[in-house]
Amino acid sequence: MMVQGVPKRLPGLKHFSMVGHWTEPGGSVPIAAMSGRNMIYELCHEDNKPFATA
Ligand SMILES: Cc1cc2nc3c(=O)[nH]c(=O)nc-3n(C[C@H](O)[C@H](O)[C@H](O)COP(=O)(O)OP(=O)(O)OC[C@H]3O[C@@H](n4cnc5c(N)ncnc54)[C@H](O)[C@@H]3O)c2cc1C
Repeated sequence: MMVQGVPKRLPGLKHFSMVGHWTEPGGSVPIAAMSGRNMIYELCHEDNKPFATA
Protein backbone atom coordinates (compact mmCIF):
# COMPACT_ATOMS: atom_id res chain seq x y z
CA MET A 1 0.00 0.00 0.00
CA MET A 2 2.88 2.37 0.71
CA VAL A 3 3.99 2.06 -2.93
CA GLN A 4 0.75 1.70 -4.91
CA GLY A 5 -1.72 3.47 -2.64
CA VAL A 6 -5.26 2.23 -2.15
CA PRO A 7 -7.44 0.99 -5.04
CA LYS A 8 -8.74 3.90 -7.11
CA ARG A 9 -11.75 2.08 -8.53
CA LEU A 10 -14.67 0.27 -6.98
CA PRO A 11 -16.00 -3.06 -8.26
CA GLY A 12 -19.39 -2.68 -9.94
CA LEU A 13 -19.08 1.11 -10.29
CA LYS A 14 -18.18 1.89 -13.89
CA HIS A 15 -16.61 5.17 -14.95
CA PHE A 16 -15.62 6.05 -11.39
CA SER A 17 -12.09 6.63 -10.20
CA MET A 18 -10.85 8.42 -7.14
CA VAL A 19 -7.51 10.19 -7.14
CA GLY A 20 -5.74 12.66 -4.88
CA HIS A 21 -4.02 12.52 -1.53
CA TRP A 22 -6.70 10.26 -0.09
CA THR A 23 -5.58 7.43 -2.35
CA GLU A 24 -1.78 7.88 -2.26
CA PRO A 25 0.61 7.51 0.65
CA GLY A 26 2.23 10.73 1.77
CA GLY A 27 -0.16 13.35 0.47
CA SER A 28 0.83 16.86 -0.71
CA VAL A 29 -0.22 18.83 -3.78
CA PRO A 30 2.44 17.26 -6.08
CA ILE A 31 1.36 13.74 -5.05
CA ALA A 32 -2.31 14.66 -5.64
CA ALA A 33 -1.47 16.02 -9.11
CA MET A 34 0.63 12.94 -9.94
CA SER A 35 -2.28 10.75 -8.84
CA GLY A 36 -4.58 12.45 -11.37
CA ARG A 37 -1.95 12.29 -14.11
CA ASN A 38 -1.44 8.57 -13.58
CA MET A 39 -5.18 7.90 -13.73
CA ILE A 40 -5.50 9.84 -17.02
CA TYR A 41 -2.61 7.77 -18.36
CA GLU A 42 -4.47 4.57 -17.39
CA LEU A 43 -7.76 5.78 -18.94
CA CYS A 44 -5.99 6.72 -22.20
CA HIS A 45 -4.36 3.29 -22.30
CA GLU A 46 -7.73 1.55 -21.78
CA ASP A 47 -9.34 3.68 -24.52
CA ASN A 48 -6.40 3.11 -26.91
CA LYS A 49 -5.79 6.83 -27.01
CA PRO A 50 -2.37 8.43 -26.96
CA PHE A 51 -1.37 10.03 -23.68
CA ALA A 52 0.07 13.48 -24.24
CA THR A 53 1.06 16.26 -21.90
CA ALA A 54 1.62 19.91 -22.70
C1 LIG B 1 -2.82 22.54 7.09
C2 LIG B 1 -2.32 21.86 5.84
C3 LIG B 1 -1.18 22.36 5.22
C4 LIG B 1 -0.70 21.76 4.06
N1 LIG B 1 0.41 22.27 3.48
C5 LIG B 1 0.87 21.74 2.32
C6 LIG B 1 2.01 22.29 1.67
O1 LIG B 1 2.63 23.27 2.12
N2 LIG B 1 2.42 21.72 0.50
C7 LIG B 1 1.78 20.65 -0.05
O2 LIG B 1 2.19 20.18 -1.13
N3 LIG B 1 0.70 20.11 0.57
C8 LIG B 1 0.23 20.61 1.73
N4 LIG B 1 -0.86 20.08 2.36
C9 LIG B 1 -1.50 18.89 1.77
C10 LIG B 1 -2.38 19.29 0.59
O3 LIG B 1 -3.20 20.36 0.96
C11 LIG B 1 -3.22 18.09 0.19
O4 LIG B 1 -2.42 16.93 0.00
C12 LIG B 1 -3.97 18.39 -1.13
O5 LIG B 1 -4.76 19.53 -0.98
C13 LIG B 1 -4.83 17.18 -1.50
O6 LIG B 1 -5.65 17.54 -2.60
P1 LIG B 1 -6.84 16.59 -2.99
O7 LIG B 1 -7.51 17.26 -4.16
O8 LIG B 1 -6.35 15.20 -3.15
O9 LIG B 1 -7.82 16.54 -1.73
P2 LIG B 1 -8.65 17.73 -1.02
O10 LIG B 1 -7.91 19.04 -1.13
O11 LIG B 1 -8.99 17.20 0.33
O12 LIG B 1 -9.94 17.88 -1.95
C14 LIG B 1 -11.02 16.98 -1.82
C15 LIG B 1 -12.27 17.74 -2.20
O13 LIG B 1 -13.37 16.84 -2.26
C16 LIG B 1 -14.47 17.47 -1.61
N5 LIG B 1 -15.36 16.39 -1.17
C17 LIG B 1 -15.18 15.51 -0.15
N6 LIG B 1 -16.21 14.66 -0.07
C18 LIG B 1 -17.06 15.00 -1.07
C19 LIG B 1 -18.32 14.49 -1.51
N7 LIG B 1 -18.90 13.44 -0.92
N8 LIG B 1 -18.90 15.07 -2.57
C20 LIG B 1 -18.32 16.12 -3.19
N9 LIG B 1 -17.13 16.66 -2.82
C21 LIG B 1 -16.52 16.09 -1.77
C22 LIG B 1 -13.88 18.27 -0.48
O14 LIG B 1 -14.75 19.29 -0.09
C23 LIG B 1 -12.63 18.82 -1.15
O15 LIG B 1 -12.87 20.03 -1.83
C24 LIG B 1 -1.37 20.66 3.51
C25 LIG B 1 -2.52 20.18 4.15
C26 LIG B 1 -3.00 20.76 5.28
C27 LIG B 1 -4.25 20.22 5.94
